Parts: sequence; structure tokens; C-alpha cells
Amino acid sequence: MACATRIREDLAPRIAAFTTRYGRPPGLAVVLAGHNPASEVYVRNKIKTVGAAGCRAELMRLNESASLAEALALVTALNADDAIDAILVQSPLPGGMGAEAEQRIFDAIDPAKDVDGFHPYNVGLLVQKRPALVACTPLGCIELLEREGISVKGKHAVVIGRSDIVGKPMALLLLHRDATVTICHSRTQDLPSIARTADILVAAIGRPGFVTSEFIKPGATVVDVGINTLTTQAEVERLFPEGSRKRAQFAEKGSVLVGDVHPEVEATAGAVTPVPGGVGPLTVAMVLRNTITAAELRATGKAAQ
Ligand code: NAP
Repeated sequence: MACATRIREDLAPRIAAFTTRYGRPPGLAVVLAGHNPASEVYVRNKIKTVGAAGCRAELMRLNESASLAEALALVTALNADDAIDAILVQSPLPGGMGAEAEQRIFDAIDPAKDVDGFHPYNVGLLVQKRPALVACTPLGCIELLEREGISVKGKHAVVIGRSDIVGKPMALLLLHRDATVTICHSRTQDLPSIARTADILVAAIGRPGFVTSEFIKPGATVVDVGINTLTTQAEVERLFPEGSRKRAQFAEKGSVLVGDVHPEVEATAGAVTPVPGGVGPLTVAMVLRNTITAAELRATGKAAQ
């Protein structure tokens, strides 16, 4: 959390300079379709953080029943709006938009305004180590490692998860910082023994407490990207001992957030990022940074054409 706060403070002069120079603040539009409870929380945090930093942050809502054509029309309008520098379409999209919807919409966002870095143009730049706008969650993980003084160069980094939004860009960012990178996924054989060779282990799986101490080399740095909501007593008891803070939270609220890393890992690892309060706030800080970067690149004519 402290790291995310420092990043926001560091960005303040860039926001002020842009606003003074161009007579308007950097502008972010967040599109939220439907009412997914987790998305509501994520979007609220992004709008609040970006707005509080002095940028323009607008929430554009679409109904749960909105069509793909309506969503694409909204993206087209935002692409054409000169006061909007950055567009973020929150996933998941309502199922009714169809299986291809996410890809169609991400492809439709102007690459120069692609604050999430999901457009194939920006992915291509990242692959070629010419990054402009890079996916916010892996970018936040790298920022955390750098700010905490954890050296990546020459280290073995194992990334569990190969999604387009976390695992793959994470692996590329580590590779570009001279780590030796292994990417693991659901078909990887003997995952614990591969993970155990990692100096830096990134878990982006979406399975609560999946990474146990048998995955950990003593002293390894563990970055827990997972955000999972536990809603049953049995799940909470499996992961957390009696008298723990999480058990008390569950008793009070009826649910708790946990990562992909089992709490027992703290005893073996050198450092483990917490959930919540670890990668999540850094992701939001990177949405802010990418909004400013997009605004600066557009204003100086250096953005993707
Ligand atoms: P995703 O698209 O579902 O990808 C999950 C990845 O984990 C897949 O590559 C999958 O392998 C792999 N996997 C699943 N089960 C596995 C197993 N048993 N063993 C090894 N690998 C396994 O998820 P995502 O979007 O990358 O997100 C991952 C997690 O990060 C989720 O909990 C999500 O909520 C969280 N997240 C957090 C933030 C944040 O700001 N902190 C941002 C984004 C996502 P296959 O490819 O073989 O299926």
C-alpha cells in the first residue's frame, strides 16, 4: 500500500504539468457493463484514485443487457473524444455480449488510448521491448519489485498463469529485465518442483491458497496476484487457523479475500505480497500512470497512429 501511495505522489508533478500546459487534465473513461460486484469495487477504486490525483475520471455505464454493438459504439465515441486520453473496459463483460466480445472490444480501442495495454498493437510493442502502454497488473508487480530493491537480473522467475492480461505480459517484463523466465499453467507437470527453483515466484492462477510451502525455495520472493473471495466456513478453515484475523473477518462479513498463495508460505519465503493490499493497489496506481503516459504521448504526437 505504501508503495502505491509513493507512486501516486511521484506522478503528481506530471499531472500538474500536463494540466497547466494543455489547459485540461489527463482524461480516463472507464466502461462498466452490468453489475458484477467485484467489478463495481475495482472500477470504484480506479475512478476514485485517478480522480483524486487530479485527472478527469469518468464512469460510463452500460446495462447488463447491452449488446456488443452498443459497447462498440461507446468505444468508438470515446476514441473520437479528444478530452479522453485513456479508455478502460472492465472485464468480465456480461455473457450476453457473446464469447468474442472482450477481444472485439479490446481490438476496437484506439491503441493510443489503450490504458490496459490489451490491444494487439501494444502487446506487439511489448514483445519487441518497445513498450508504450503495458498491462497494469504485471506493470505494478515489476514496479513493486523495483521499488523494494529486489533484483531481477539473472534470477530465475517462475510465473504460474499464462493469461493475456497477467501471466504473459508478466513473463515478458521479467524477461526484458534479464530474468530467466519459466511460464507454468494447468498442464505443467510437477509444478511444485519447478516453482521450487524460483528466486521470484509470481502466482496468477485464480485458485485460493494453491501455492503451498512445497512450491517455495527458502528465501524466495513471492508475488501473489490472485484475488479470490471465500464465502464458506470450510474454505476459510482450510486456509486459516483458529483465532486468525481472516477467521474473525469472515465471522463478521461472511466473506474474505485471499490470494493464490497459502498463508503457510510466509514461513519459508523471503517476502510475500499481501492480499488484499498488495498487487491490487499497485494495479490501480498503474492505471493512473498509464492514463498520464497516454495523455503525454497523444499531446506530443508520439502515440500510436
Ligand atoms: P485466468 O485468465 O483465469 O488465467 C489463469 C491461469 O492460471 C491460466 O493460465 C491457467 O492455466 C492457470 N491455472 C489454472 N489452474 C491451474 C492449476 N491448477 N495449475 C497451474 N496453473 C493453473 O486468470 P487471470 O485473469 O490471469 O487472473 C489470475 C488471478 O489474478 C485471478 O485470481 C484474478 O482475480 C487475479 N487478478 C488480480 C489482479 C489485481 O489487480 N491484483 C488483476 C487481474 C487479475 P491454463 O492457461 O492452462 O488454463
